[in-house]
Amino acid sequence: MPSPVARPTNPTLWTLTAGPAPELSRDVPSRSDVVVIGGGFTGLTAALHLARAGRSVIVPEAGRLGAGASGMNAGFVVPNFAKADPATVRQKLPRDRADALLSLVGIGADEVFATIAEEKISCDAAQTGWLQPAYGDDMAAILRQRAQDWTELGRPVEFLDARAIQDETGMDIYSGGLIDHSGGTIHPLNYLYGLAGAVMRRGGAICENSMVERVERHGGTWRVSLAGHEIETDAVILATNAFTDGIAARMGRTGVPLKVYQVATKPIDAETVARIARHRRPVGDTRSNLFTYRLDRDNRLISGGMAINPIGAFDRVGRAVVDRLASELRLPRHPGVEIVWSGMAIMTPDFLPRLYRFGDGFFGGIGCNGRGVAMTAQLGQILARLALGETAASLPIPLQSSRPLPFHRFTPVVASLALAHARFEDWRTARR
Ligand SMILES: Cc1cc2nc3c(=O)[nH]c(=O)nc-3n(C[C@H](O)[C@H](O)[C@H](O)COP(=O)(O)OP(=O)(O)OC[C@H]3O[C@@H](n4cnc5c(N)ncnc54)[C@H](O)[C@@H]3O)c2cc1C
Repeated sequence: MPSPVARPTNPTLWTLTAGPAPELSRDVPSRSDVVVIGGGFTGLTAALHLARAGRSVIVPEAGRLGAGASGMNAGFVVPNFAKADPATVRQKLPRDRADALLSLVGIGADEVFATIAEEKISCDAAQTGWLQPAYGDDMAAILRQRAQDWTELGRPVEFLDARAIQDETGMDIYSGGLIDHSGGTIHPLNYLYGLAGAVMRRGGAICENSMVERVERHGGTWRVSLAGHEIETDAVILATNAFTDGIAARMGRTGVPLKVYQVATKPIDAETVARIARHRRPVGDTRSNLFTYRLDRDNRLISGGMAINPIGAFDRVGRAVVDRLASELRLPRHPGVEIVWSGMAIMTPDFLPRLYRFGDGFFGGIGCNGRGVAMTAQLGQILARLALGETAASLPIPLQSSRPLPFHRFTPVVASLALAHARFEDWRTARR
């Protein structure tokens, strides 16, 4: 019996424009080889790899498909770490482990687009390349080095000069920038639905409104408890990201939750599209108060932001984001807000992903740090490999035990202070 706990999804651009949701399981089976808790990109990618490997798999999902970040994100497919470039990763880890991790994240976008092609998922997938314009000469020098590091790792990344960036974006404030030709955009909810359909076609079970409360060891197997129901299984994957309800608490409290707002404008005219996104490439610059934009299939601009003060933030951030788009992109007229929505992302303190071992055959993964569309394709696959018995020594991310962040409840305050500081730094850079 599914649990009565239903997590509502707030309406998003994606719920308004998605295709039909796939037909999911009506009942929760009582036994499977693997239980994957959480039906976001991580969980469904793991489930797909397990089902492809011939394992029976059940995915209990606390709410509806898309209730988590996978249904709320902006659909930028970006194969790198938001806050850790190759040089930083190499400082933090031994060289061979660092390069293995960089290679893993670097092919993330290719993996997403390959799965979309293999499973024939209709989700407006466009591997047009991703642009990262550099704000200031110092940042341009960093991106030039970053492009070279990625090229040496075999990735299709180039540095573009200021003129080329202006040609791409219509903006003359940048000192150059980077393009990763493997990046792009998707309709995230349709991608999620496509992954779910692929799991179901291979015999997997996906059960909505099924919050997992407990996972306990009994003899040689695990018992996964939903309200009024138990599943017996050999292996368990926790793929619950930023959530902290029920069993998710043991992973969700290891990172800093961030409320991110997304905004879509009304469609803009074709002439402006040709000026600011002639190749329809998604853009995310290097400012601390990040400026991002992409187009959807109907030429709505999609961008996002965060709020220092959460009170009344929904409308305020929505208006501010569209005002910023209009002024930075010098739009001929204010495009107006079509829809605002929000979701919870999670950041790990060092901005790198984490793999956790909770027991014999019980694993979890977290920490896609705002790059989860590409990174979950990799994290999900690694979690599946662990559940299939692969040893940790062969993995590019070390397996560790989970430790909640001290004062986790107060981390949103720290995040607000960090945002205020970031805006101050941008202001200082602009004055120089
Ligand atoms: C607003 C926003 C915009 C973003 N934009 C981008 C972007 O453009 N590009 C990018 O690469 N990344 C982006 N991200 C990050 C990216 O969306 C995430 O990293 C990624 O979707 C995480 O996927 P997931 O499957 O790990 O988690 P989720 O999608 O959060 O899935 C976790 C699931 O677990 C379920 N769950 C929780 N607890 C339980 C329980 N006890 N029992 C059963 N189920 C449970 C939840 O209901 C949820 O569906 C964005 C994030 C947000 C919030």
